[in-house]
Amino acid sequence: MTVTSTSVQRQPQKIWWSNAIFFVGIHLAAVAGVLVRLPWTVRKETLILTLIVWQSSSFGITIGYHRLYSHRAFHASLGVRSVLAILGTMAMQGSIKHRCLRHRLHHRYTDDDEHDPYSATRGLLFSHVGWIFFKAKYERMDLIDRQDLERDPVVRFQHRYYMPLAIFFGFLLPPLLGLIWADAWGAFIWGGLVSRLLIWHCTFLVNSLAHWDGLQPYTDENTSRMNWILALLTAGEGNHNFHHSFPYDFRAGPSPLDWDPSKWVLLVLHQLGFVTGLRRARLDEIEDAKLFMRSKSHVTHHDGSSENTGEGEAAWSGPVWDVDQVMEYAENMGTKTAPCLMVVDGFVIDATNYMKEHPGGAMVLRKYAIPKDKTKLEGGLWRDAGWAFAGGLNKHSRSAKRRLVEMRLARLKVE
Ligand SMILES: [Zn+2]
Ligand SMILES: [Zn+2]
Repeated sequence: MTVTSTSVQRQPQKIWWSNAIFFVGIHLAAVAGVLVRLPWTVRKETLILTLIVWQSSSFGITIGYHRLYSHRAFHASLGVRSVLAILGTMAMQGSIKHRCLRHRLHHRYTDDDEHDPYSATRGLLFSHVGWIFFKAKYERMDLIDRQDLERDPVVRFQHRYYMPLAIFFGFLLPPLLGLIWADAWGAFIWGGLVSRLLIWHCTFLVNSLAHWDGLQPYTDENTSRMNWILALLTAGEGNHNFHHSFPYDFRAGPSPLDWDPSKWVLLVLHQLGFVTGLRRARLDEIEDAKLFMRSKSHVTHHDGSSENTGEGEAAWSGPVWDVDQVMEYAENMGTKTAPCLMVVDGFVIDATNYMKEHPGGAMVLRKYAIPKDKTKLEGGLWRDAGWAFAGGLNKHSRSAKRRLVEMRLARLKVE
């Protein structure tokens, strides 16, 4: 892969000693435990427990922490959310709130040395485990939408009592279950420690290997890859290239042939009525992304770029509105929610119905929306979101740029 680095002078980061000691300590304890209880001397029930703990906590991360809480790819009842929170807690990767906010940063600033918490551009080791050892500041965290997380009582409860919950479900529950077949000690070593390493490193591979090695059938705008072996290890998250292109999709791979047990579990839960509102990327957008990548492999662009996502200003044949016409349009929209009209690169965009779909959340769109009261417009105009859209706040994908063009209402007349 191509490793890039920004010219920004990075401040030396402080070591996060408590995290580092815990992380290294669990590794040492697991190795020592395995030497005491070699795999072929362990009871069958204990090995099965290890597998169950590993896989169920893996689903807690992929279905719960990732697809539900980080990306809102579906809706789930309080009961389902609670079960997913328990399984995710068992994985010991921090509270839902902390981990999801960090992951949202990763999507918004993918491959940014400064602002992607585990940027692949800082090397394979850093993106895998290196970042865990440093106390990061996350200077742009305030820009990340968090209201949905803070509103959810399951997230609030789990965040508040995270430590005792993690210790109980991660370290105490396995030996308690091991008591049933009189192997509490073995269950602690294998179900408590070894399974922890399995779930940790398999999850971390999504941050490292899935940004390092594999195919890019959907986009080459970031380092995300599609890796089949990784999909096997991570309950389906290996098709990371699709995920970075369509992060709100409940599937890591749209094809029935894509190995994605998390998607299959969700489809079953949906059939049974436990989850609703499974979100899918539009078929034409998926096809367009694939076609574009295929054509790109045959065509060399002079400037190395690929973009022609829609009509530019010169090609626009639609209406041209002044500010008063935009305000009048907003007043007459008659939508239940407040209209969300924005200006992006000189075009008036109607994002009202798109707010719920926006992978970065509704809050950030609202910041750029036209205010109800015209007197609040600065200098008679409102902020053009072009800078934010083009990379200032997020490197939007080619598909996102295409969708933006579809949402254009008019070109804004500048006096
Ligand atoms: Zn990623
Ligand atoms: Zn994601």
